[in-house]
Amino acid sequence: MERIFINQTIKYIGEKVKVCGWVNSRRDHGKIIFIDLRDRSGLVQIVFTEELKSEIYKLSDKLRPEWVIEVVGTVEKRPEKMKNPKIETGGIEIKAEDLKIHSEAKTLPFSVESDGYEINEEKRLKYRYLDLRRQRLQKNLKIRQEVIYFMRTYLKEKDFVEVETPILTKSTPEGARDFLVPARLQPGKFYALPQSPQQYKQLLMVAGLERYFQIARCLRDEDARADRQAEHTQLDIEMSFVEQDDILNLTESLYIDICKKLFPEKRISEIPFPRMTYKEAMAKYKSDKPDLRKNKKDENELAFCFIIDFPMFEWHEGEKRWGASHHPFTKPKTDDTEKIKKTPEKIISYQHDFVLNGWEVGGGSIRTTDLNVLTAVFEVLGHSPKETKEQFKNYFEAFQYGVPPHGGIAPGIDRFLAIVLGEPNIREVISFPKTGDNRGLMMDVPSKIPEDQLKELHIKIIRDK
Ligand code: ASP
Repeated sequence: MERIFINQTIKYIGEKVKVCGWVNSRRDHGKIIFIDLRDRSGLVQIVFTEELKSEIYKLSDKLRPEWVIEVVGTVEKRPEKMKNPKIETGGIEIKAEDLKIHSEAKTLPFSVESDGYEINEEKRLKYRYLDLRRQRLQKNLKIRQEVIYFMRTYLKEKDFVEVETPILTKSTPEGARDFLVPARLQPGKFYALPQSPQQYKQLLMVAGLERYFQIARCLRDEDARADRQAEHTQLDIEMSFVEQDDILNLTESLYIDICKKLFPEKRISEIPFPRMTYKEAMAKYKSDKPDLRKNKKDENELAFCFIIDFPMFEWHEGEKRWGASHHPFTKPKTDDTEKIKKTPEKIISYQHDFVLNGWEVGGGSIRTTDLNVLTAVFEVLGHSPKETKEQFKNYFEAFQYGVPPHGGIAPGIDRFLAIVLGEPNIREVISFPKTGDNRGLMMDVPSKIPEDQLKELHIKIIRDK
């Protein structure tokens, strides 16, 4: 007999069904035992009566919360006054005829019935596989899938091609440190995990893909910050033969549609999304990610906007050097290389940030395809032309074989979800998040590596905390 989901049982009144899941609770009324059985789809009441073959009744008497069982029984309508309007299957119950215990369970370290906010978070992360049993998190994961699925379908219909790019790669400067992976077969050399697929997506434009996207994992070794993750997921997009407005228009219509279809209870404050320059935003709101909600107490209001015309460079006072506001591949609004080098503070770029309710939820730019400009930008950042050519050999080579004008954007998925779902932080919308200081409490990572493995990698630990 094929197992059915619990929420389907209401369609089988009078019929025999098989359901599987976890014992949510049990009540013992002398000659009758009630079990609330839970699976992914909901709860249903199972009744074991003494009329059963005695060994099954005896077995049912052993059941405890979170045991995993399988029940075959007949779906029966509950008498009117026994109905439970609070659950979807509250009008029926299953009269058990057979019972199989798949596994027993220890007492859980915390309840999975509540929304879980009241439980110590480190504990929740340590037992994330249990934490994920709670309905709120299951719902968040399902909505996450809906959003990603929607993005995929939407972009595919607009002739975008989804392409996977390598995880073992070389550093691309996106403003954070790289996670490095030692290369066993090339002693002394390392791969870097991608801070984003930036270089690959641009090279896909040289390859003639024209419209690319990827649900991309980006890995950045940043200093501990409360609501950041070492790995985040973004909708990575790149397009050829476009202007900045084309990228913003696409993003805008995608997000309007996502909200309409998946979050109909939400209200977007202003359509089209306001677009303002960095200068305007700073003058008016003293922020480059202004919160444009009309009523900040309204949990259903979404205020999107785009900020454009950012300064190309920002001064890092601590290190006394220039950095790129977005990344060095962003196109400055001038191709005068002398001006770029002499007055970096005056250079405006084709960077665009995507902002929602005061949070930066994405960024992108039109890219530099003029190698002289790229070299000048890197000179401002402190790299000699020789170094730049060496470090970005692939660009210098590729861009000489016919490069289309191109640009892109990368809206983050975690932050967007946390905002629309009204979650207090991004960990609530990520399956297995890490702590703010990048520890994975469930897997106990990072972890030490056995001596032989290090030897194989030609690595010696010189300081061990
Ligand atoms: N690579 C950029 C980022 O991850 C996005 C972009 O420029 O498209 O922020």
